[in-house]
Amino acid sequence: MEYDVIVVGAGLSGLVATSEIVKSGKKVLLLDQEPESSLGGQAWWSFGGLFLVNSPEQRWMGIKDSRELAWQDWLGSAGFDREEDEDYWGRKWAEAYIDFAAGEKRAWLHSLGIRFFPVVGWAERGGYLAEGHGNSVPRFHVVWGTGPGIVKPFEQMVRSAMSSGVVDYRPRHRVDELITHEGAVIGVRGSILISSSAERGEESSREVLGDFEFHAQAVVISSGGIGGNHELVRQNWPPGLGKAPKTMLSGVPAHVDGRMLGITEQAGGRIVNRDRMWHYTEGIKNWNPIWPKHGIRILPGPSSLWLDAKGQRFPAPNFPGFDTLGTLKTIQDTGYDYSWFILTKKVIEKEFALSGSEQNPDLTGKSIRMVLSRALGGIPAPVQAFLDHGEDFVIAHTLPELVAGMNKLTSDNLIKLAEIERQLIARDREMDNKFTKDLQITALRGQGTT
Ligand SMILES: Cc1cc2nc3c(=O)[nH]c(=O)nc-3n(C[C@H](O)[C@H](O)[C@H](O)COP(=O)(O)OP(=O)(O)OC[C@H]3O[C@@H](n4cnc5c(N)ncnc54)[C@H](O)[C@@H]3O)c2cc1C
Repeated sequence: MEYDVIVVGAGLSGLVATSEIVKSGKKVLLLDQEPESSLGGQAWWSFGGLFLVNSPEQRWMGIKDSRELAWQDWLGSAGFDREEDEDYWGRKWAEAYIDFAAGEKRAWLHSLGIRFFPVVGWAERGGYLAEGHGNSVPRFHVVWGTGPGIVKPFEQMVRSAMSSGVVDYRPRHRVDELITHEGAVIGVRGSILISSSAERGEESSREVLGDFEFHAQAVVISSGGIGGNHELVRQNWPPGLGKAPKTMLSGVPAHVDGRMLGITEQAGGRIVNRDRMWHYTEGIKNWNPIWPKHGIRILPGPSSLWLDAKGQRFPAPNFPGFDTLGTLKTIQDTGYDYSWFILTKKVIEKEFALSGSEQNPDLTGKSIRMVLSRALGGIPAPVQAFLDHGEDFVIAHTLPELVAGMNKLTSDNLIKLAEIERQLIARDREMDNKFTKDLQITALRGQGTT
């Protein structure tokens, strides 16, 4: 046998798996349907926010995190409800992952040269009770160099194993079938796709040039999710999230097509957690798209007012950055598949950020000068580009102009000036005191934002 292990997918998970396997002296065949330009998959585009527990970065910010608190949060978010069946391994995996994140994870990454931006972000704050969904404390550690920074050491390890002949990496090799014998997967069959000059992340041709078949004692599937395939997303849409939206954007490239999941199932693989999807609701159309329907997620700071299509503030705890899936359900229940953020220029400057490596050139390019210039104020250039070109933005100097612009953008004519004005004045009144009954303001003060 030529290879010990076949790894399908050269995204971050495939690169990590390959680099770990070769350490044990095994020979790996690494296959990917995309051209070499897309090596590293989604992770290259990512913001590189990693989950760590009780890190020096957290302690430096005065955050007291612990394995116990992280486990409490994990249980609240996971909602394990089928422990004897689908959740059996999920729970075991979660326990092991919490140990990893509170234990060796940071030291391991550090040993590979990965460093972190010293400000830890607070994603998914929850907004319920202590045992409910969400992170009780900030845990989103941004890699210095964002997505490319996390891909780099693993790519380097794989490339060095390629030069020593231990890894055979074959781009444009799309797996179409898993070969089984007596209940075990013993190899893969697939199509060699025509060579492609597509740049990183761009959709590449599916024209077939030939076929292939390889055998190995083990096959690892690291083919990513289904987010680039809206048909599959709709087919699997969980009833608990309301109706699937009519309009969807893709936060991921087209290669995240979910095809390999069906192929794995045909070979006897068991797919779990179909109903546990994750969709961000704060997606905006990329004015400068790289892949089809390219959506960029707003990383919402906590101050914007979040309103439904009719201009009514969402009820607690549907505040920016609190409960993504809960807010998705709340939005879907309105019968409209969009919502509004209202914010001022000061809020845009202070806390508006966009997810993704290319939207954060300062952190991605490891430029201390550019990062420091964030603190001086002003609107970051990628955000300004969206204000200038993004079709989802309305910029106005007065409230009547803003409302007119909002109504023009959707043509639904649902926003009433008096309603918006009333809610803004009411919220501003709540800011005058150190006391308040508005939970969004309590939350702002809880993290020292006001
Ligand atoms: C803009 C953006 C921001 C993100 N921010 C964060 C963040 O801050 N923190 C975080 O934790 N996560 C983040 N993510 C998510 C994270 O990057 C992904 O979950 C992760 O990179 C997925 O890695 P993967 O290797 O499992 O899949 P992928 O990167 O999708 O790689 C799978 C590979 O398999 C290949 N493949 C699929 N099917 C076949 C087949 N049949 N034959 C051959 N090859 C096949 C694909 O071509 C692809 O190269 C972000 C993602 C994006 C896009």
